[in-house]
Amino acid sequence: MEKNKINSNLIPIFDDAGFYFEQVEDLKNAFKSELEHPHEPEFYIYSRYRNPVVVAAEKELMKLEGSKWALLTQSGMSAIDLALSVFHKGEKTRPWLFFSEIYGGTNSYIDLILKEKRGIDVHTFYSENGSYDMEKLEKILDGIKPELVYFEAVSNPMLIVADAQQIIALAKKKGAKVIVDNTFLTPVLWKPLADDADLVIHSVTKYLAGHGNLTAGVVMGNDTDFLSQMIEYRKWIGHMLSPSDASRLISFLKTFEIRFAKHCDNALELALLLEKNPRIEKVHYPGLSSHSTYNNAIKLTKGKGFGGIITFDLAGKTNEKKGNCSHFIEHIKEHIPIVPTLGDVDSILLPVEAVWGEKYPYPGMIRLSVGAEPIEELKEYVLKALDQIQK
Ligand code: PLP
Repeated sequence: MEKNKINSNLIPIFDDAGFYFEQVEDLKNAFKSELEHPHEPEFYIYSRYRNPVVVAAEKELMKLEGSKWALLTQSGMSAIDLALSVFHKGEKTRPWLFFSEIYGGTNSYIDLILKEKRGIDVHTFYSENGSYDMEKLEKILDGIKPELVYFEAVSNPMLIVADAQQIIALAKKKGAKVIVDNTFLTPVLWKPLADDADLVIHSVTKYLAGHGNLTAGVVMGNDTDFLSQMIEYRKWIGHMLSPSDASRLISFLKTFEIRFAKHCDNALELALLLEKNPRIEKVHYPGLSSHSTYNNAIKLTKGKGFGGIITFDLAGKTNEKKGNCSHFIEHIKEHIPIVPTLGDVDSILLPVEAVWGEKYPYPGMIRLSVGAEPIEELKEYVLKALDQIQK
């Protein structure tokens, strides 16, 4: 007899590859009912199809997003591939429209996979001077009549906030489906499905997992036909999260909202401080009234917060900027290291030019993913490192 009970807040890891069946009839029924009640299944068959821990994690995400369903995948990129899979119709595939200011990896996937390998007619809608021109968008929609429009609510690294509700309304009016990658705002600041988007994607690797040690992605939506198609695609392509990663994700999600609130508070406070510092030329943060899309940010998040990323440009003559950037990083990296991701509970940074190169060739620019550390500590690290520049 056990002396103490299992903690019912913790879900055991069912790491079975295939599940145990007592009756042949049950196995037959399991295959037959596979698409029914995907989040309350009567049977589990094989973990590449569906696993109890993954389903439990999906249910937590559905609560956060307010969606009818969620499908977890092994990375944000595979979530993007999964979401787009329903629009692949062989030779009948219609044009797709992507906004230009999206994750660089997604842009590479578009060029190398969608265009080059799959021959999809992909169009790009470019931003101009830090914003999107809605009249131009309407003309493009009328011209190419895309089947889908794909955008990110907040761009990276310049943090351009889209007038997302207007974009969705316009795209839907023109008959396109809308996919939003909402990794940067998270469901805390905006829920695209509530504003009529068809699918929302997150790189769960970022804020939702938030500890820099889990790679995952999710697609969420309300349309059950999309759901059935994606369950099939995920199963046959194998875009599935592992049970142990799903279990860790469930634990991380318990603190997600607290963490994200702290990311936002810290980032705003730090952005206000940086804006006053003479060693900084420009701070890009959507919560500052100086940001080109501050009004969009207020409209979209209703002022609940502005995210945890700050991009700033160090002051100095053009030929000094590279050196200033190196000095700054050299003096801060013990506390805030260079790590090419974002959304971790610890602050991390990236020099923009080193990552974006030709697209953003600004040698003095840094993208700071503000962590959830005590704000006084963060301020001290940043101010000390700024003081060291050119000393
Ligand atoms: N979407 C955004 C906005 C991202 O920043 C990233 C990765 O940086 C991805 C998608 C891809 O996610 P993952 O790295 O989890 O595959």
